[in-house]
Amino acid sequence: MYPESRCALEYENPLQLLVATILSAQCTDARVNKVTPALFARFPDAKSLAQADLGEIEKLIQSTGFFRHKAANIRGCCRELMDRHGGEVPRTLEELVVLPGVGRKTANVVLGHCFGVPGITVDTHVGRLSRRLGLTRHDDPVKVERDLMEQWPPGDWTITSLRLIDHGRAVCAARKPACDRCGLADLCPRVGVEGAPGRSRRSSQGSKDEDGGG
Ligand code: SF4
Repeated sequence: MYPESRCALEYENPLQLLVATILSAQCTDARVNKVTPALFARFPDAKSLAQADLGEIEKLIQSTGFFRHKAANIRGCCRELMDRHGGEVPRTLEELVVLPGVGRKTANVVLGHCFGVPGITVDTHVGRLSRRLGLTRHDDPVKVERDLMEQWPPGDWTITSLRLIDHGRAVCAARKPACDRCGLADLCPRVGVEGAPGRSRRSSQGSKDEDGGG
């Protein structure tokens, strides 16, 4: 399933993917892809973003939501990159997750797509599908990530995350999963899915999920 799965965010280098992933919080990838060309044209590197006027960044990213917080994080992140990493994006989880606005999800996206370091991206789709498929019982993304790491070989971490994201968008939607046309229907216990006869009805995050990018 989903042999063509790829990161839906558009980028040309690790810094652009890092910034795009920060912007994708509570926002669709399509919306992020609309604002990043102008943002990266105006601020092409970590140095220019580190020195940028906050209001100018805010204006360019306004439509992605939470723009003041995101602008502060982007500028703060780039200042850290300049101060500690020579303006380059570091290649380890430990160095990435201490940057402003960068959590494990963002770090794993950058590591997996830019540096070939296997990582499991637990966004809203991966979390929801992992619970419905019975791969985890946890809501905490870090615990979900650990459960999946135990069940998948490292070589599958990045691509399987992408495939779950695509499946969540195309078929296993938060509110109305299309189980009747799902290729995983024979395997899936449908944990927490309303109206799934004979399945577990464990309470899940269900309707609070929204498309969260990544
Ligand atoms: S069977 Fe239903 S709940 Fe399970 S993965 Fe498919 S769409 Fe989602």
